[in-house]
Amino acid sequence: MYNPEDIVPTPVSEQELLDVEYPIMEHFYTIQGEGAHTGKAAYFIRTAGCDVGCWWCDVKESWDEEKHPRMSVKSLVDAVQKSGAEIVVITGGEPLLHNLDALSISLKNIGVQTHIETSGSSPISGMIDWVTLSPKRFKKPVDEIYPFVDELKVVVLTKKDLKWAEDHAEKCPSDARLLLQPEWETEKAIPLIVEYVKENPQWGISLQTHKYLNVP
Ligand code: SF4
Repeated sequence: MYNPEDIVPTPVSEQELLDVEYPIMEHFYTIQGEGAHTGKAAYFIRTAGCDVGCWWCDVKESWDEEKHPRMSVKSLVDAVQKSGAEIVVITGGEPLLHNLDALSISLKNIGVQTHIETSGSSPISGMIDWVTLSPKRFKKPVDEIYPFVDELKVVVLTKKDLKWAEDHAEKCPSDARLLLQPEWETEKAIPLIVEYVKENPQWGISLQTHKYLNVP
């Protein structure tokens, strides 16, 4: 959990926070399909902009933030409130390209849990209840992020990703959830992960269940 109570630079009014804008590719209420919170209803806010560039990325249209409208925190918070969601997942793109103080504090003010899914390519910001680090080879996480990790989720394509996952796990808090997730279109990743988790039960498997459920 990341709670930067003394990091927010200067006290600002709730209204000033609500006026801040972010480039947003999409936002919608759905079911969390991945990781430790799989199966829970969650409102997803997908910020635009990514500096990582994974070749297998399934949201490449998020990369260029200029192609997406800017939305105020107020309009996002209103949409979340209207949905009745109790959890908001801020994802991307790479959400930490943006300072998340205004969005996350405003979400906190309406009493929802805020989760983030990040590659860790930029330092953390915001008031975040659950930090999922999904490191990518194309741009490694910054060291400052590891102490705040609640869940390490590593996408696996080949055997060498398993060693890479262990390298990241060593830097995370000892109580962080450790999850391996097969890349959706790489069939051989699943048997690889199954055998690995049987031999290394501190790890679990994360499946992209929203793709099986056919929800966004
Ligand atoms: S970090 Fe995420 S959004 Fe960015 S390229 Fe990789 S998978 Fe896509």
